[in-house]
Amino acid sequence: METRLGAMKKVHIKSFGCQMNVYDGQRMADILGEQGFEETATPEGADLILLNTCHIRERAVQKVYTELGKLRDIKTAQKAQGQDTRIIVAGCVAQAEGAEIQRRQPAVDLVVGPQAYHRLPELLEQARRKRIVDTDLPVDDKFGHLPAPRAQVIRKRGISAFVTVQEGCDKFCAFCVVPYTRGSEFSRPVVQVMIEIERLAAAGVQDVTLIGQNVNAYHGEGPDGRIWGLARLMRRVAEVPGIARIRYSTSHPRDMEDDLIAIHRDLPQVMPFLHLPVQSGSDRILAAMNRRHTADEYRRVIEKVREARPDIALSSDFIVGFPGESDADFEETIALVDEIGFASSYSFKYSPRPGTPATDLHEQVPAAVMDERLQRLQARIEHHRQAFNHAMVGRTVEVLLERAGRHPGQLAGKSPYLQAVQIETDANQIGDRVQVVIERAGSNSLFGRKAGAADGSMPMPAQDPSTQPASAKELAA
Ligand code: SAM
Ligand code: SF4
Repeated sequence: METRLGAMKKVHIKSFGCQMNVYDGQRMADILGEQGFEETATPEGADLILLNTCHIRERAVQKVYTELGKLRDIKTAQKAQGQDTRIIVAGCVAQAEGAEIQRRQPAVDLVVGPQAYHRLPELLEQARRKRIVDTDLPVDDKFGHLPAPRAQVIRKRGISAFVTVQEGCDKFCAFCVVPYTRGSEFSRPVVQVMIEIERLAAAGVQDVTLIGQNVNAYHGEGPDGRIWGLARLMRRVAEVPGIARIRYSTSHPRDMEDDLIAIHRDLPQVMPFLHLPVQSGSDRILAAMNRRHTADEYRRVIEKVREARPDIALSSDFIVGFPGESDADFEETIALVDEIGFASSYSFKYSPRPGTPATDLHEQVPAAVMDERLQRLQARIEHHRQAFNHAMVGRTVEVLLERAGRHPGQLAGKSPYLQAVQIETDANQIGDRVQVVIERAGSNSLFGRKAGAADGSMPMPAQDPSTQPASAKELAA
């Protein structure tokens, strides 16, 4: 293994943005691990610094350039100490802005797009001689060339893992850069996904989230040569020994087919949680956004999902201030939020993105109006989140314990509804799924004790309906 003064080479990877970037960051760490790099938590002292960037909103892009300014200073300081530092920009800003990044920040040695990072070793070699930009989009090439992470590395990352099964998007929402930065929809073949998940499970992973920009559009080649949808893939994943919890994200309402909804009823491994962005409650705005569904169509999907799994926790993304959004349109969004009672949600001010159709629309909403709408929306979202969490108090839920808690004697984990839960216990039970009586809801976590721990009663069975909330809508009301 290559060394610097006898030590292993160090790489610092910082990922911005979505879960796909977290996954890509880990896969780049795997590639660089094979080249003799070990990960380090800080950029100071690193031989290689990799920024894995996000282009979804203007602010995310600004962050990258600010961060690059700081990294240039570190590079200069380390050079003065005789250490060579190389800076790589990867991810969606790399894809969208390419050579512009090197023009704005000459300290950058290599710019590599999200579909070209499997070529990191050769690109790094070339970057010794000249600065390189590689933003090719041949998506099907990448996954077949990525090295599998070692069992030891998987264990270090914990018992939950993301697995990219789908990339890119053909939906072309009017505000969104994803179809341009990630390219068109591509689904990994079933066998390739299964090999990765079986490997994760063998190393102790119990909780997998299948991810994609539009994951429920998944249409991968099955082992039988036919095209499999996401529901069929998830049924296969549920058969993997050791995989106790499965989620998928992010879905589009138009692709919520009945067979996918049915797995929420049929498969105990599929967690009662669904992130299904609606963006707006106004049909006029949904049409202008090119979402290709109405608010009522979204409501009908939610109804079906709740029929299949009444206690499901729902989550969404919202954009306020899309061009042309009137007060009345915004009120329809608020009404939808109150009606559905989401367990959690993300909300954003509209950010015009270069090259997307919405940037050319007239009637851009003034910044002050957007601010006010965002505050009101976030207050409603928070109200429903708190209501959902408070309704858990007194109930018994299964918690997968993942790591040490905030204080000594605490362990932290997740409920089936993706809530953070802390319990008091002296035992090292990381990796256990325990029944927990929820005693208190804090602002960001639930707090509880192991069922039967303090009051001497027996633990409740995992899927006992009497221990589960009757319906998320009732909870949030
Ligand atoms: N594929 C998902 C979907 O269909 O909803 C979302 C993918 S996108 C990475 C995540 C979220 O970012 C979107 O749901 C949207 O709310 C938000 N977003 C995307 N483009 C945006 C923009 N130009 N301004 C503000 N928010 C944006
Ligand atoms: Fe972007 Fe999602 Fe729309 Fe695709 S479906 S264009 S990823 S918001």
